[in-house]
Amino acid sequence: MADNIRNNENKFSLRCPDCANGIISINTIEYDLPDGDKMLIVKFVCDSCNFHKNDIIPMTTRIEPGIMTLKVSNENDLKSKIYRSPTGKLEIPELELIVEPGPRADFYYTNVEGILLRFEEAVLIYKNSLGKTDPEFKEIEELLIDLNKALKGELNFTLQITDMGGGSYIIPQDQSTYSFKKIDNLKIDHE
Ligand SMILES: [Zn+2]
Repeated sequence: MADNIRNNENKFSLRCPDCANGIISINTIEYDLPDGDKMLIVKFVCDSCNFHKNDIIPMTTRIEPGIMTLKVSNENDLKSKIYRSPTGKLEIPELELIVEPGPRADFYYTNVEGILLRFEEAVLIYKNSLGKTDPEFKEIEELLIDLNKALKGELNFTLQITDMGGGSYIIPQDQSTYSFKKIDNLKIDHE
């Protein structure tokens, strides 16, 4: 494990809110980001049911607005961590996925796989609301096939966060898949 991660396990314990029997272990990981910022990842795991939760606390605030781009091409990339602040817009153009900035999804911390699973769930609900004769039905089925490939690491796609307020992060599994473009004077220059 890299030196920039410090791991603390089982310093506290509490009763599981889900099954009420298990004990939750709390594991905190302090993470030094390449730009010098720090954040704290807090994991809650129940020892008797499936309850688990990840939380993230930025320890320093980066207010640099910019566009973060992650190229995903294999299963390992799906584990790259994503932290989208309320001012961040998240997009996967290849899958027509757009999560608009907004307070409803404050401090949304997950990984690429978590985003795909959440999206798949929404698409399935939408598909079930359509009749089989609906002209959109086939399109949605094709999207689900692509999503399935993406979840297996068999589809190349781009995950992009545009954050005009700053505070969003991508922590790539492989640094070479990640790029950051600063936004100056709150305007994006299109190349
Ligand atoms: Zn439990």
